[in-house]
Amino acid sequence: MAEAKRKGKLVYDREKCLVCAGCAGVCPALAIDFRELEWTLDDGRCTRCGLCVRFCPVGALHVERD
Ligand code: SF4
Ligand code: SF4
Repeated sequence: MAEAKRKGKLVYDREKCLVCAGCAGVCPALAIDFRELEWTLDDGRCTRCGLCVRFCPVGALHVERD
């Protein structure tokens, strides 16, 4: 997806995160990685689809609109 078509950005709250890795599992774009238990986002892959946001049981993710 072209950069200009993606709205906002995915924001992660480390304080809330349980490191369950579920968000990485549901991401259809394989944009989230948990290497060494560090949440990392490949922003170029993320389409802002919001699936991980809806999945996260503790509300540690949200899409911040421009
Ligand atoms: S918003 Fe969608 S594409 Fe981006 S990390 Fe979450 S599940 Fe993956
Ligand atoms: S789904 Fe939520 S709690 Fe689980 S690893 Fe992802 S951000 Fe953390």
